[in-house]
Amino acid sequence: MPLTEFALIDRYFRDLGSRRDVRIGVGDDGAVLAPPAGHDLVAVVDTLVEGVHFPAGSPARSIGHRALAVNLSDVAAMGATPAWALLALTLPRADEPWLEEFAAGFSALARAHDVQLVGGDTTSGPLCVTVQVLGIVPRGEALPRDGGEPGDLVYVTGTPGDAACGLALLQGRLRPATRAEGALDTLRNRFLYPTPRCAIGAGLRGIANACIDISDGLAGDLAKLANASGCGARVDITQLPLSEPLLAAAERPAAEHFALTGGDDYELCFSVPAALAPALAGLPCTAIGRLVEGRGVTVCRGGSVIEFSHSGFDHFGG
Ligand code: ADP
Ligand code: MG
Repeated sequence: MPLTEFALIDRYFRDLGSRRDVRIGVGDDGAVLAPPAGHDLVAVVDTLVEGVHFPAGSPARSIGHRALAVNLSDVAAMGATPAWALLALTLPRADEPWLEEFAAGFSALARAHDVQLVGGDTTSGPLCVTVQVLGIVPRGEALPRDGGEPGDLVYVTGTPGDAACGLALLQGRLRPATRAEGALDTLRNRFLYPTPRCAIGAGLRGIANACIDISDGLAGDLAKLANASGCGARVDITQLPLSEPLLAAAERPAAEHFALTGGDDYELCFSVPAALAPALAGLPCTAIGRLVEGRGVTVCRGGSVIEFSHSGFDHFGG
């Protein structure tokens, strides 16, 4: 007998997390949450549509993981700590093995970040997953996009480009330059199971003056940060932290292109006044350039400016 909507919620989504600040969670008309005193609430929401944000037929575990991860990444980019999630799930059918895997992917990541699922909505239709996450940040300390100043150093966490290369591999668009399965698996998993940089984001409070997460490509997302801050940015392509798996799978020009323009990394890109740069010691991030007077992102190789075609992903753009 197919699962009813209520049995489905009960079985897969009722017991994901147990935070003491949840007065009422899944099961009532609304969740009742108790944010700590002296904090601001940060709210984010992101939708994943099959065939747009992930290839049709992607593993359900990955879809559950990514649907939460992309939201945790936005919370991280605000310098906040995630606390509560809501899940609006549209499913073609109540496929129990699929739901089992989806819930496992979602809940493993939720547990790792002490995030509790406190409500949602379940409907039938083409596969589409919307997650909202609420996070908390000490009052007034959230990291905006628009606080950058000319002269700031620009940093990126992790190794951008891996996820876009992984997606190209998953979609058969890239003939890999290596047969080392370990490297190729690493890249595919960087797309399927991105790591939101929550601890780093929170650690940047009081150090970074502007921060954004990289969902649509480093150059495009840095351009958003620079524009919001009323300045431009200059990136040295030789400073980009390219991972070994990426350099194994793709020739260097392609690897650089993935790193500059590829989406889905969910790394953080942020600007820091030069005087505060020593405070970053020990954080896994790399200086890649500076904010400058002017507009737009300029890419250089050593001293000379290079042309590159960029523009991040835009749902309605050409
Ligand atoms: P209502 O009709 O009051 O909106 P629903 O019948 O849609 O409530 O949902 C019943 C309860 O289950 C609510 O607490 C809702 O937040 C929760 N819920 C529904 N779908 C999900 C889901 N996919 N994940 C988590 N909680 C859910
Ligand atoms: Mg109701």
